[in-house]
Amino acid sequence: MDGDWRAGLFRRIEERTDDLVALTQELIRVPTVNPPGDAYTACAEIVGKRLKARGFEITYARGVDTPGDSDRYPRTNVVARIAGTGPGPCVHFNSHLDVVAPGNGWTVDPFGGLVRDGKVYGRGACDMKGGLAASIIAVEAILDAGIPFPGALEISGTADEESGGYGGVGYLAQRGYFSRPRVDHVIIPEPLNVDRVCIGHRGVWWARIETLGRVAHGSMPFLGNCAVRHMGAVLERIEHDLLPRLARKETRMPVVPEGARRSTLNLDAIHGGQGEDFTGLLSSLVPDRCRMVFDRRYLIEESPEEVRGEIVALLEALKRERPGFDYELHELMHFAPVLTDAQAPVVRAVSAEVEAVLGRPAVHVVSPGTYDQKHILRVGHLEDCIAYGPGILDLAHQPDEYVGIADMVNSAKVMAAASLRLLTGAVP
Ligand SMILES: [Zn+2]
Repeated sequence: MDGDWRAGLFRRIEERTDDLVALTQELIRVPTVNPPGDAYTACAEIVGKRLKARGFEITYARGVDTPGDSDRYPRTNVVARIAGTGPGPCVHFNSHLDVVAPGNGWTVDPFGGLVRDGKVYGRGACDMKGGLAASIIAVEAILDAGIPFPGALEISGTADEESGGYGGVGYLAQRGYFSRPRVDHVIIPEPLNVDRVCIGHRGVWWARIETLGRVAHGSMPFLGNCAVRHMGAVLERIEHDLLPRLARKETRMPVVPEGARRSTLNLDAIHGGQGEDFTGLLSSLVPDRCRMVFDRRYLIEESPEEVRGEIVALLEALKRERPGFDYELHELMHFAPVLTDAQAPVVRAVSAEVEAVLGRPAVHVVSPGTYDQKHILRVGHLEDCIAYGPGILDLAHQPDEYVGIADMVNSAKVMAAASLRLLTGAVP
C-alpha cells in the first residue's frame, strides 16, 4: 500500500465532507419508519440514482411476500455494483434503510437533518444512514482517485433490519446476493463506534408462554381456574430462580456494553383476561388465558436446547406442583449467536485501517442484539462479515440521535482503505 496513494484517497474524502453531510441529510429526510416500513422506495432511489450516475449497475429487489410487504408498503431493496479492472473478490457494504419511530423527547425535528456543532441530527442519523452515506462516499472516492482495483465493489440499502430483516438482507441472501462467488467480504456500517470492529452478536430466542385456565363467574372464582394467577407463579419462578441463574452465566464474547456479557431475559409484554380495546367496564369473569412474550438473549457458551430447556423445565415443574396449571409455549424467533474469527480477512483489514486512521488500536466487540449478519452467515453461508460504522452505539433509537461529521469522515477513510486492502490482497 503506497503512502502517496493513501494520502490522495484520504484528501478526496476530506474534500467531500459537505457532500457527505448533504447526503446524510437527504437520507434522514425520507422517513423510512418501520413499522410499517414507509418510504423504502424513495430512500432506495436516492442511493440507486446517485450510484447509477457514477456507472454502477443498479438492481431494485422488492421483498415480496415477506412480513409487512404490500403495495402500500413495498419492501424495496437496492443493490449497486461496480466492477473493477479484472477478476477478483467483491467487497460489499450493506446498510439498512429503515429507522425506528422517533418516539417522544426530541428537541429537534427528527426528520429535519439539522447540522449543529459538527453533528447531523435526526432519526437514523446514527442507526444507520450516516454509515450508509459514509460507505457511498468511501467508494466514490476510490473511483474519483482513479485507483485501479480488481474484483467489484457493492453497496446495498435494505429493508426491515429493525423488524428481523426478512424482507431485506434475509430476502436477498436467499437469492444469492450474500454468497460466494458473488460476494467475498461484507461490512455492515451499523453504529458500533468509529474505533470498534463488531465481530458478532449474542443469540436471541423470542417466545410466548400462555397459561391456560377455565372461565367462571368472577364472584365464584373457586369454580373456575385463573390463568392470570398461574402466570403470576411463572413470573415468581422467573424472578427468584431463573434470573439469578442467568446473571451468573458469563461469556468470553467481548459484548458491549459490559452488562450484556451475561445471559439476559426481558419480559416484553403480558396480557390476561378480557381485552382493553373498549371503554366501559369488564364482565365478571375468571380469565382462562394469559400470555406473555419474552426475549431471551444467550451466549456462545450456551446451546439453544439448553436455553429452551430451562423454560420448559420451569413450566413442567409448575405443572407438577400447581393444581390446574397448564401451558403452551410458542417460539416466535430464534437466531444462534454469531462470532466471526478475529483472524478473518475483513476483521484484519478494517482493524489495521482503524489504527492507521485514528492512531489507536481497534477494539473488537460483540453486539448485545442481533443485526443482519445473521442472515449473511446462516443463509448466505458467508463468514467474512463484520459491523463497522461511525455512529455511537448508545445513541441508537434514542431521542436527539445524531452522527458526528468527523466520525463519518474517519469511517469513510477506514472503509475505503480497507476495501482496497481486501480487493488487492494486501491484508495485514
Ligand atoms: Zn441498525
